[in-house]
Amino acid sequence: MSMLWFRLYVLLLSPLTWLVFVMGATIGSFLNVCIYRIPLGTFFKHHRSVCRGCAAEIPFYLNIPILSWIFLRGKARCCGMSLGLQYPLVELLTGLLFVVIYWRFPFVTLGDEGAAWDGANMLRCVHAAIFCSLLLVCSVIDMRLMIIPDVISLPMIALSPLVVYLHPDLDWPSALIGVFAGGGSLYAVAWLYWLIRREVGMGMGDVKLLAAIGGWLGYQAIVPTVFFGSLLGAIGGVLMMAASRRLTLRTAIPFGPFLALGAIIHLILGPYIQELMLRYSS
Ligand SMILES: [Zn+2]
Repeated sequence: MSMLWFRLYVLLLSPLTWLVFVMGATIGSFLNVCIYRIPLGTFFKHHRSVCRGCAAEIPFYLNIPILSWIFLRGKARCCGMSLGLQYPLVELLTGLLFVVIYWRFPFVTLGDEGAAWDGANMLRCVHAAIFCSLLLVCSVIDMRLMIIPDVISLPMIALSPLVVYLHPDLDWPSALIGVFAGGGSLYAVAWLYWLIRREVGMGMGDVKLLAAIGGWLGYQAIVPTVFFGSLLGAIGGVLMMAASRRLTLRTAIPFGPFLALGAIIHLILGPYIQELMLRYSS
């Protein structure tokens, strides 16, 4: 165990970790723009950052990830509109995600003999960073509006053959099976629910999201994703019911964020979890 803590300590001290965090937080800032503009259909309308309250242009020094929000104490300078906690949280989360992805697939390592470069890990890192960013945008939109935008999930499905072609460990048959197994299994659940209760229990957005996850990670990821997603969804649902008394068993909670979290847990921690399970099952 002490070895693990030592490795963590070394990683935290590494300047590359901090560089990756700053990169992630900056991309998180862009993801916030996507989260607001994609549901409104105004993604390509403004090139510069504008205030959502009064449409004033935001100067670059008030657009620094996380720090600007703290400096402005969560209020826009131009019109005083409250800037929700979502802004710094998405930036922080993207930064942390990128760091964890980099630790999982270190493409540059600094050693005594200078920097060592790993091309295959670079590809794994880029793949994981794009995948997690897209899922993060879908999750926050789903939490706010209870929809998963087709403009993200459908292109993800369509691009999955190219994605797995560029990835060092994935192949197109497993991606193709992943799309159909992922989409098909949730579609079957939705259909059964409708047969039994005659109401829509699961949205088609979740079906397309799991198809996209299967396409980007291969069919091997479907069972772990649904397992972690359902487990966390159940825990999350109980916690949300405990926190607010208005919720009942019939209150709809978005499943997309939990599916996304399940997929990310599998992507980052999959091999470690498998190792643990093998150790305790034998
Ligand atoms: Zn304003």
